[in-house]
Amino acid sequence: MSRYLKESFRALCEYTPGEQPKDGEYIKLNTNESPFPPAPSVLETLSRKDIENLRLYSDPTMSVLKSKLAKLYSVESENIYLSNGSDDILNFAFMAFGHKGAIFPEITYGFYSVFAELHGIEYEAVPLREDFTVDYKDYLNKDKLIVIANPNAPTGNLRPLWEIEEIIKSNPDSVVVIDEAYVDFGGESAYPLTHKYDNLLVVRTFSKSRCMAGARLGYAIASKGIISDLEKIKYSTNPYNINRLTATLGEATVDAEEYYMEKCKEIIRVREYTTEKLEAMGFEVLPSCANFVFARHSGYDGEKLYLELKARHILVRHFSNPKINQFNRITIGTQEHMDKMLGALDDILKGDTL
Ligand SMILES: *Cc1c(COP(=O)(O)O)cnc(C)c1O
Repeated sequence: MSRYLKESFRALCEYTPGEQPKDGEYIKLNTNESPFPPAPSVLETLSRKDIENLRLYSDPTMSVLKSKLAKLYSVESENIYLSNGSDDILNFAFMAFGHKGAIFPEITYGFYSVFAELHGIEYEAVPLREDFTVDYKDYLNKDKLIVIANPNAPTGNLRPLWEIEEIIKSNPDSVVVIDEAYVDFGGESAYPLTHKYDNLLVVRTFSKSRCMAGARLGYAIASKGIISDLEKIKYSTNPYNINRLTATLGEATVDAEEYYMEKCKEIIRVREYTTEKLEAMGFEVLPSCANFVFARHSGYDGEKLYLELKARHILVRHFSNPKINQFNRITIGTQEHMDKMLGALDDILKGDTL
């Protein structure tokens, strides 16, 4: 830290991303990326011309991609906002709508508290229920910025839409952000409610179900008022927030919807398979509607398990927070990945040394 840094940023605890090893030696089950490549049509999309055109700025209105998404979700282009990864939208939401304070679950996506601190917002982190689920009643009549990941991370728990609607309905004077990074793996999206409630901001990403984490593309669906607020901040910070290559790839991705829905089904199938096998080995696995499972074993320390898997070139995500430090979050990979992971767990639990 230099002595030049603004006082209010000095104590900031920044977000810790999952490890991204450079050597490719690992089965990577730690950051919820897709094990599948983008659709074949997406792989063929970029041409030399697209690279030549990088000399030009991208279209700040993103009109082509917006209208494709609007069509897919039966909303208007003015109900869509596009960003460089959905983290950017979450950041803007705290920046723009957090002045009355914020409230989100204590165990959830680690970035929410970072954004709150970044913007000097007071926040309430509400404990989950005993079974690691969100109790919607904790979020009624709060009149603060409410942020809920549904399904939640790292638990994978999904709340039904009627609970989400109760939260939205009881907080008409504040924005309710529903972070749907994992909704395609078995959840029901709240976006149709944007027709009915002008305080709902649904945040989604191409990083997980659209197999494109490295392209950095996120989007929001909300009332025209909220979208125009996000646009206002974009035009006050970085109007060309999406690069040309990502925009082109994003357009091709929306056109290949069927491929991605197929891959989501496969992930769900492998998730159920993995859950069954883990339970047979004595793990407690929280019911997941996401592309990961959160599991613990009463006879084996969570961190030790993470380290033993890592020694066997399998990366999963472990969190040091004492409330969840007996768990590991395991991304669902291909069937082959999971069989290798399960085989390694079997060795570890049996006490086999390397
Ligand atoms: C992965 C993730 C995101 C952000 O993804 P981007 O890559 O920035 O689009 C947002 N919320 C949750 C809960 C996530 O797990």
